[in-house]
Amino acid sequence: MKVEDKKRPEWNEISNQSAVIKTLWRQFERLEVHQGLLYRKWIENETEELLQLIVPTSKIQEAIRYFHDIPTGGHLGIDKTQDRIQKSFYWPSMKHTIVEYIKRCDNCAAPKQLQARKTPMEKFLTGEPMERVAMEILGPLPMSKNNNRFVLVLSDLFTKWTEAYPLQDQEAKAVAQALTNEFISRFGTPLQLYSDQGQNFDSRLLKEVCSLLQIEKNKSDKYETTSKWLC
Ligand SMILES: [Zn+2]
Repeated sequence: MKVEDKKRPEWNEISNQSAVIKTLWRQFERLEVHQGLLYRKWIENETEELLQLIVPTSKIQEAIRYFHDIPTGGHLGIDKTQDRIQKSFYWPSMKHTIVEYIKRCDNCAAPKQLQARKTPMEKFLTGEPMERVAMEILGPLPMSKNNNRFVLVLSDLFTKWTEAYPLQDQEAKAVAQALTNEFISRFGTPLQLYSDQGQNFDSRLLKEVCSLLQIEKNKSDKYETTSKWLC
């Protein structure tokens, strides 16, 4: 199914395709391609038109994990998790996959950990936009026409504003370029960057970029094993 042609294929051309393709086919007129990535137009609250990046089936669990599990996700409930995801992403049967994911989430299933769960949220309280920005790389995805296989996702933890940029690779250089040229040039420099990517971001190059941009050095002891503050 080619969205660029702007002509919906006949049903018999896609009738032997997966359920995902069929679901996308039914909303063909809402699909758009930007920089080689597939998006769906979505009107939020009948007012704001958003573009949702369509997540391949193989990356859905990773996407939910990003919005639900990491300290910034705070293990929110089904509706709130979906609210946050659908501002930037879409995949067929989204609600169902989120319900199933949260049902299996150990943290959410254990009432004894309720108290413990509050701590990460407090840890990530922010007072203003661009104070703390979380970054995540999704991928590798199927190669796009522009040779992009990764998506850099940046979320402002105060406003919850999320942006996604295509990347050809997940090397620090590509990430630093997208971060600087796409995000910082439009929104300014965040005081802190948060990532759970580990060594991927722990590169000298990005540190140089951070120091170039005068991003505050910080480190969270609490999440040292699973995540770290950059720069
Ligand atoms: Zn959970």
